[in-house]
Amino acid sequence: MGESAVTELAVRGRQLHADLVLDTEAVVVGTGAGGSMALRELARAGIDSVALEEGGYHTTADFNQREEQMLALLFQEQGGRTTEDLAIRILQGRGIGGSTIHNTNLCKRIPDAILSAWADDFGLHDVRPEVLAPSFERIEADLSVSEIPAADRNANNEVLRLGAERLGWRGGPLKHNRVGCQKSGFCELGCSYDAKQNALKIVLPQAAAAGARIYADVRATRIHIDGGRVTGLEGMVLGENGEHIANARIRAKVVVLAGSATGSAALALASGVPDPHDQIGRGLHVHPGAAVAGIFDRTLASYDGIPQSYECTEFLDFERGSDRRVWIVPAFAHPIGAAAALPGFGAAHMRAMRDYRKLAVLTALVHDETEGRVVLGAGDRPKIRYVMNDADRAQLAKGLVACARILFAAGAKEVVIPAVFPHRMRDPGELDRLDTGFVRPHELPLTAVHPMGTMRMGTDPKRSVVGPTGEHHHVRGLFVADGSLFPTSIGGPPQIGIYTLAFHLARYVIERARTA
Ligand SMILES: Cc1cc2nc3c(=O)[nH]c(=O)nc-3n(C[C@H](O)[C@H](O)[C@H](O)COP(=O)(O)OP(=O)(O)OC[C@H]3O[C@@H](n4cnc5c(N)ncnc54)[C@H](O)[C@@H]3O)c2cc1C
Repeated sequence: MGESAVTELAVRGRQLHADLVLDTEAVVVGTGAGGSMALRELARAGIDSVALEEGGYHTTADFNQREEQMLALLFQEQGGRTTEDLAIRILQGRGIGGSTIHNTNLCKRIPDAILSAWADDFGLHDVRPEVLAPSFERIEADLSVSEIPAADRNANNEVLRLGAERLGWRGGPLKHNRVGCQKSGFCELGCSYDAKQNALKIVLPQAAAAGARIYADVRATRIHIDGGRVTGLEGMVLGENGEHIANARIRAKVVVLAGSATGSAALALASGVPDPHDQIGRGLHVHPGAAVAGIFDRTLASYDGIPQSYECTEFLDFERGSDRRVWIVPAFAHPIGAAAALPGFGAAHMRAMRDYRKLAVLTALVHDETEGRVVLGAGDRPKIRYVMNDADRAQLAKGLVACARILFAAGAKEVVIPAVFPHRMRDPGELDRLDTGFVRPHELPLTAVHPMGTMRMGTDPKRSVVGPTGEHHHVRGLFVADGSLFPTSIGGPPQIGIYTLAFHLARYVIERARTA
């Protein structure tokens, strides 16, 4: 991909000096995993298509590896998005490429057991494992998905592998979508080396090459519906500081919502999309997680190298009602993130940061049953209601204890669970006596990076928002093509599932665009 093609990928709304008024066949809201793929498929089918993205258009040259600048540039609410009760930090991308710009590139399919349950419980037979498999294969080929070689495993991931193996626990290498990785470790701030095979680098340029038009800095604010059909949408063109500088008005036969599980639901709610069974925004899952740190007596430099390349699946399976719902992977933060997460104040905090290079950090993420809800907040922004239920809290507690055992087994001299009142342990025996009552909102820093659900797919309009084709139950031409579609949590990294569903369902969007 030549430099000139990259810089011409999107029109920057902030440089428009007039309203944006377009007449097209299809308009896609959001340019992340789902939106980029829907756009590409529409354009390749010869449908005149436009994508609107509320965030900016940033390229490799902008990704300067500075936490304080990249968080503000690439994340929703400058990295400060949380649940309504402030208990869980929710990280989501904002910008051309969505959350694929700064994700850690793990690639996993939606597990077969989950797809089978979706077919049985939600009537989604079109995504049964054997039906969806060719679409997964196609997407993995498009994004150059491969297993991360053992030689590229950094010290933090090696700690996980060693600890899990010593305990006899199930684990293994992960797959990713990087090519030419320099192993700098800055994936979550945008790749300065353009090694990510993501929406920004791969899918959106393919969409543009097929004729799609992509606009940054344009926020969709209202979907227009007339007589049970979509007719287009309106929006705001945003200036460099997010100020409203002009209006957008797009006429289209098909509208595809791909603003993520929070953004799509908020837009649908703000637009008064018909919702007779009060389903829009419900069924939010986020994979809440927390971290555990091990202090070793040697330098690990866990910030260096590919952040996540190994997983422990000893406590994870996908059968309905399972009591094994935690996924364990390494999680390491750059200095500002680590300083914010490490407990203590003053001299104690300084001591903790002096050990930064000797830390290994693991995280337990819950394959959650809790159902949160997206409602409308100030300025029609998404407000996220999500309070972990007791069963999920128990799972997380089990996961944190497991992380601590792995760290001890790998040789940590001290293990810290950075709760509000931190738990410091020097002996794995202490874990047998640990009271995990602190695993609750506000007593433990919680983070979630995988919002899913809110515009669920299913055959029953009483339990879902869109049908098995991705089209709204009551509005012709209104489709969803992002993480909102998932009727349940999937217990692992969602991007491949989202790209694949958007690809797989695009045939129905194309058909509607041709016939509407
Ligand atoms: C730090 C981090 C690490 C992650 N690591 C991984 C990983 O390793 N593997 C993995 O599979 N997943 C990972 N994820 C999650 C993954 O990136 C997301 O699940 C996936 O990108 C979601 O796709 P999406 O299409 O639903 O939404 P997104 O990719 O979030 O895209 C939505 C886009 O829509 C835009 N938008 C929203 N509302 C509007 C509106 N009204 N008008 C216009 N535009 C709008 C947003 O600005 C955004 O750019 C990670 C996420 C984070 C935050």
